Amino acid sequence: TVLANQIAAGEVVERPASVVKELVENAIDAKSTEINITVEDAGLKFIKIVDDGNGIDPQEVKTAFLRHATSKIAEQRDLFRVRSLGFRGEALPSIASVAKVRMQTSEGGQGIEVNYAGGKLVNEKPAPARKGTTIEVSSLFYNTPARLKYMSSPNTELSRISDMVNRLAVSHPEVAFSFTSNGRELLRTSGRGNLLQVLGAIYGMKTVSKMVKIHADNLDLEVNGYVSLPELTRASRNYISIILNGRYIKNFGLTKAVISGYGSKLMIGRFPISVIEIKADPALIDVNVHPTKQEVRISDEGQISKLIYEAISSALADKQL
Ligand code: ADP
Ligand code: MG
Repeated sequence: TVLANQIAAGEVVERPASVVKELVENAIDAKSTEINITVEDAGLKFIKIVDDGNGIDPQEVKTAFLRHATSKIAEQRDLFRVRSLGFRGEALPSIASVAKVRMQTSEGGQGIEVNYAGGKLVNEKPAPARKGTTIEVSSLFYNTPARLKYMSSPNTELSRISDMVNRLAVSHPEVAFSFTSNGRELLRTSGRGNLLQVLGAIYGMKTVSKMVKIHADNLDLEVNGYVSLPELTRASRNYISIILNGRYIKNFGLTKAVISGYGSKLMIGRFPISVIEIKADPALIDVNVHPTKQEVRISDEGQISKLIYEAISSALADKQL
């Protein structure tokens, strides 16, 4: 029902940045090589995501807007080996229940367009046969005024979207992203799979020239990424990004491991800029902890922490710091 979807929306679509996150994750799950994101008025007026992914079968499109009708989990045991970013089947119905949504999608053949407003199907019609999906979300929270009142200033909401897009781009260097806000291009990545290039597009080449590559692995795990030299720090931990199997996560223990890799090289209250990519067996990770999927449970966090510590401390030692 529309009400149940609006309740779920309370958790999944808190603000424009969460809409962007969910829709871009769907585009990544659909194996897109190019994802173009456009917003107007910090996403509250308009959000558009164009991807060149697999698209949705015209017969299945309306099902995709039903709650828990995910195509990504077939059986209960699949929950313990999730490889896709989405798996709860909540994003599309939630977003459609609190906005006006237009989706055009095609698997390569005849496409379909559906329009939803406030969770109800308004109309459907044929669409061009361009492989991929275009989704437009307008008038976000138009029918939930209490939610609208909770929005911060447009600048704050826009910077939340921008942070989110940066994280998604860093987590997927193999995808070419563009992000445009009110006609201004804020990010463009090449999609050539080079993490350092993505970091350059976000932070600028000067910052990137002060970052060093890290690597460590063992039989079960691999840690890769880039960390800044101790001379290049920020006053916030937010510049420490942890990416686990392509999913940006928040994890206090692993963040602490990054900091401890610097030993006594950091000044009090200063934190490095870093991107830590971890590859681990999905069976060791429970991603079904929270609706936004940013918190995960890891069965061997200690082992990952140790590897992060080793990768960073040895890379910095090589630089004779
Ligand atoms: P989930 O991602 O958890 O499966 P969503 O509500 O986000 O649930 O999406 C529902 C379904 O719609 C997905 O399982 C997928 O099959 C389909 N889908 C959504 N967006 C796209 C897209 N951009 N490209 C291809 N399929 C999509
Ligand atoms: Mg999804």
